Amino acid sequence: MSIRSFDASKSSPLSIVDLFTIGIGPSSSHTVGPMRAAYAFAGAALERGVPVSLKCDLYGSLALTGRGHATDDAVALGLSGWLPETVDPDDVAALVTAIGDSGRITLAGTTAVPFRREDVVFRIGEFLKDHANAMVFTATYEKGEPFTRTYLSIGGGAVTVKGRSPVRAAMTVAHPYCSAAALLAAGERHKLSIAEIVWANEATWRAHAETEAFIDSVRLAMLKCIDRGCHKDGVLPGGLNVARRAKHLHENLMARGPRSDPSLVFEWVSLYALAANEENAAGGRVVTAPTNGAAGVLPAVLKYYEVFIPTATREGSRTFLMTASAIGFLYKSRASISGAEMGCQGEVGVACSMAAAGLVAALGGSNAQIENAAEIGMEHNLGLTCDPIKGLVQIPCIERNTMGAVKAINAAYLALQGDGHHVVSLDAVIETMRQTGNDMRTKYKETALGGLAVNVVEC
Ligand code: SF4
Repeated sequence: MSIRSFDASKSSPLSIVDLFTIGIGPSSSHTVGPMRAAYAFAGAALERGVPVSLKCDLYGSLALTGRGHATDDAVALGLSGWLPETVDPDDVAALVTAIGDSGRITLAGTTAVPFRREDVVFRIGEFLKDHANAMVFTATYEKGEPFTRTYLSIGGGAVTVKGRSPVRAAMTVAHPYCSAAALLAAGERHKLSIAEIVWANEATWRAHAETEAFIDSVRLAMLKCIDRGCHKDGVLPGGLNVARRAKHLHENLMARGPRSDPSLVFEWVSLYALAANEENAAGGRVVTAPTNGAAGVLPAVLKYYEVFIPTATREGSRTFLMTASAIGFLYKSRASISGAEMGCQGEVGVACSMAAAGLVAALGGSNAQIENAAEIGMEHNLGLTCDPIKGLVQIPCIERNTMGAVKAINAAYLALQGDGHHVVSLDAVIETMRQTGNDMRTKYKETALGGLAVNVVEC
């Protein structure tokens, strides 16, 4: 297979803050991204005056599964000046109801403007050629031309304005890389681990202590998410009547003996992933890692490391997350982490690959073993489609996170048993994922038009 070549010096380096964001569920591209886009548009619209009306047209996958992902609520909140990281998930329902009842939003948190739910238009069956997740915002004014801007939700909660390149393109990091081969070569040349390369690159943007504080906050948010999920029951929102299972599973496991019992390891890991992803499905506080749909995989494997590995340390957890992010950057820059572009291989598959790499690093594996683990983690997720029932991030998403977490641990130990030599390179498997995603029929890419979404009768 010929691997696409990249010039690292000409591409935009990514930071861990781009990959891990602490926000709300249920979807990074359908909830977090649209909220950020709406927030940005609100500011830009107000610079031109006070609008008399606002509209948001949703296209492609955003239109097809946006209702299940609460995209309309996310747009209303973003226009009102809320961001996924600032809004309290417990306040969302009341805020949305208040907007609906009043027929107004406080644009950018400052100026009342008429706004009804119908001002978010789901353009079912219409796709913009720029991206599978596109939204067009329009503000009209008493005088002058309407102001229109198109945003693309490109995966993992990131948004771009159509036609604009990322601002960070001009920055240079200590060890630029755009392929796994280049990453391994940089490690070899400078005698650095993959995590050390990421630490050095992050120094471009902030002091070491700040990066450390950020990564610790990500770790804490992941663990808290699992904890909350283990203590909540009830039915998940959206109308599918999916009951939360983590609380019952947790109680069950607690009653069965010490947590360190090796025979229960995978049940605990599955519980961790289930708990985190149920929180996501409920619109709770989660870490996008690298997406919300896959938000249970990394926390579950991280918690496995902290609970089941007797030699685990806080530094080991940082190494886990820094290494996982390096692998996430590769998928984001060489392919995509958007379910609407790659299917679920780009979400749970990528999270599995990242978690496998992170675990190997935390367990002291070599760079070659890390790359091997990341490759195994994706190789056995290739072709995974995205067909959530009713467009809700619940079935198959929640259980799929448990599969991703268990598979990641398996991949890590397989890689640790070798010396890093293997046949399929990580670059080759990323390219295979990209080609598979491009060839995958649209109905299997977050549209709810194929697969389980059409073969399961809703009850
Ligand atoms: S099936 Fe996978 S990609 Fe699709 S919404 Fe669920 S977790 Fe995301």
